[in-house]
Amino acid sequence: MTTTDTPTLDTGTAPAAEASTEVGSVFVSNYPPFSFWNQDGLDAYYEALDRPPDVAPKGRNEDVAPKGRHETQGTPLGLYLHLPFCRQRCKFCYYRVFVDKNADQIQTYLDTLAGEVEVYAKKPAVIGRPLSFVYFGGGTPSYVAVKHLHKLIARIKAAMSWDDVQEVTFECEPGTLTQSKVAAYREIGVTRLSLGIENWSDEILRENGRAHLSGEIDRCLPWIREQGFDQLNVDLIAGMVGETWGSWRRTVQKTIDTGPDSVTIYQMELPYNTVYSQGILEGGASPVADWQTKREWHLHAIEELERAGYEVSSAYTMLKRRAADDGKARFAYRDSLWHGADMLGTGVASFGHLGGIHAQNVSGWGDYLGKVADGELPLGRAFVTTDGERATRELILQMKLGRLDLDYFRRKFDFDPLARWQGAFDRLADREMLAVKGGDEVQLTRQGLLQVDSLLPEFYDEKYRNARYT
Ligand code: SF4
Repeated sequence: MTTTDTPTLDTGTAPAAEASTEVGSVFVSNYPPFSFWNQDGLDAYYEALDRPPDVAPKGRNEDVAPKGRHETQGTPLGLYLHLPFCRQRCKFCYYRVFVDKNADQIQTYLDTLAGEVEVYAKKPAVIGRPLSFVYFGGGTPSYVAVKHLHKLIARIKAAMSWDDVQEVTFECEPGTLTQSKVAAYREIGVTRLSLGIENWSDEILRENGRAHLSGEIDRCLPWIREQGFDQLNVDLIAGMVGETWGSWRRTVQKTIDTGPDSVTIYQMELPYNTVYSQGILEGGASPVADWQTKREWHLHAIEELERAGYEVSSAYTMLKRRAADDGKARFAYRDSLWHGADMLGTGVASFGHLGGIHAQNVSGWGDYLGKVADGELPLGRAFVTTDGERATRELILQMKLGRLDLDYFRRKFDFDPLARWQGAFDRLADREMLAVKGGDEVQLTRQGLLQVDSLLPEFYDEKYRNARYT
C-alpha cells in the first residue's frame, strides 16, 4: 500500500503483536487501568466528597514523600456532562450510547443529570469551588434540542459557580447541527466547538456506520465560522475501515482547506465492545489497517498540517500557529486533567476524579435514573490512588504531549523521575522513542509520539503491566 512519495516510518523494535489491529484497547486515558476499579473504593470517594478542601485523608498509603499529597484547595475543578445520545451507532464505537430515546426520555435524562450536579454542588469538597472548565461529551451533545439544553444549563449555573469557567467544550456531529443550534451554543458560552468529521469520504463514513455524510459537514461549517468560537477543533480518525492512501490524503487536504484552529487525529483501534470487534471475535479477519500503516497515515497528516502552519500540541492534536500565539487554542480540559485536576463526571457511565480517587457512574439507564431519583450519587465503581500512582498517572498522560518537564515532577511529587523510571527511560531511548535532555527534559522522537500509547505500560507498576486495561 505504501507508495514512494509516502512518508515511511521506522517504528524501531515495536512488539510483533502490534502489527495488525486486533481486539483490545491501546489508547491510554487513565491510570491505574480501569479493570482494577471496583465497588471497594466507593466509600473512600463518598468520604472525600464529605471533606472540605485541604483536609488530608486518613490512612492513605503514602508511598512517596508527603509533598505529593493531593490537596483539593487550589486544585482546578472541572465538570464533565455525558449526553449519551446518537442518531445511530458507529461500528467502531465503544461508548455507552443510546440510539432509541425519544424527546420525553431525553428530557428525563437531562433533569436527572441536573439533579446529579445539584447533589455534587452541596458536598463539602465542592461547595464554593468555582468551575474551571466544562465539557459536554458524548454520545452526541449536539443531538439534544436547544430548549432541553437551556434548561440543563440554567440549573447547573444556579447550583455551581460558572463565572470563572475558562473553557466550555461542546462535541458536535455535523448532521445534527442547524444554524440556530450553533448560535445557541455561542449564547450559552461554548468556547471550544469540537466537530466529529472523522473522514471526508462518504463511502468510508457509510461503511463505518457514521450518521453524517460530507455534505452535512460542508453545510454546517459556515454557521460555525459565523459565530466566531474561540476554537474550532476537528476530529479525524486515521484507519477507518475502507481507508486508502488516496482517501486519507483527500481527508487531510480538505481539513487543511477548512482551516480549523486545532485538528485531533486518532488512530483507529478496536476495543472489545464494538461491532467490528464482535466480527473478529466470531472468527473474522480484522477489517482495520495494520498499526504501521495507520502510523504512516498519522505521520502524513502531521507533516501536511505542519506545512500548512500547524504545530504539534500532543500526540493527537495539531494547533494552528496563529491560534496558539493568540492563546486561543489552549485545551484547558486536557491540560488540567493531565496535571491532576479534579473533575466531576456526571451522566451515565461517566468517569471522574476527586481528591485522588477515581470514580465511574453506573452504566445502566434505569440504574442511573433510579439512583439519582433516590437522592443518591449514581456511582458504580472507584479506585483510591496512592501518591505514587498519581505521579505515574500524570507522567504517562503528560508523555502524550511529546515532552516531559522533569522539574515539574520533582517539585510536585518530591522525587526524581529519572531515578525512579531509569530502566523504562533507558529502554525507550535504546529504541529511539525518546531522548533525555540534560536531566531536565524528556523529548519524544516523532516515532515515539506516533505510538506513545503502546510505550506507556513501561512506566506501570508491575501488577498492572500485563493486565487487561478496560
Ligand atoms: S457518534 Fe461517537 S459516541 Fe456516537 S456512536 Fe459514533 S463514535 Fe459512538
